[in-house]
Amino acid sequence: MLHPFDKSPPARNGRKPRTTLARTRPASRSAFWTRSLLGMLWALPLTVFGLALALPIWVWRGHLQLVRTPVMALLVRGPLADAILSRHPFGAMSAMAVGHVVIAENHGLSARVLMHELVHVRQAECWGPVFPFAYLLSSAWAALRGRDAYWHNRFEMAAREAEKHV
Ligand SMILES: [Zn+2]
Repeated sequence: MLHPFDKSPPARNGRKPRTTLARTRPASRSAFWTRSLLGMLWALPLTVFGLALALPIWVWRGHLQLVRTPVMALLVRGPLADAILSRHPFGAMSAMAVGHVVIAENHGLSARVLMHELVHVRQAECWGPVFPFAYLLSSAWAALRGRDAYWHNRFEMAAREAEKHV
């Protein structure tokens, strides 16, 4: 969901995180569109919230870009996105995904960070409206086990794993 670069990763626990995108590549064009449409509908409540955030970013000297693969997403960047991401209460962020909307820094968005966020978009398609709660539960579970709530969140681990394939 969030992608801070101001943290260094803790020591790995030896377990390999699961890759989301690599295992869910659609078999055909029709399967891709069926899956995409169902995922968009299921994640729509989150996407509506993301669009509400994206609108002022776009209006204030921002720009939009449609990302089509490996998952559909609306990428929004602009000075307001920079301001929001740099002042995020959880710490400075490079990008964040809210449903099918990816809010990113105006400059310097790398393919690696974009892939990370697109994994979160795919996760939102799978989990729909309960994704934020599942995400927080995963962080809580990690913290209860004495691990880092961000780095050992299963959704973040999957997103970081996908970054390696860029
Ligand atoms: Zn993330």
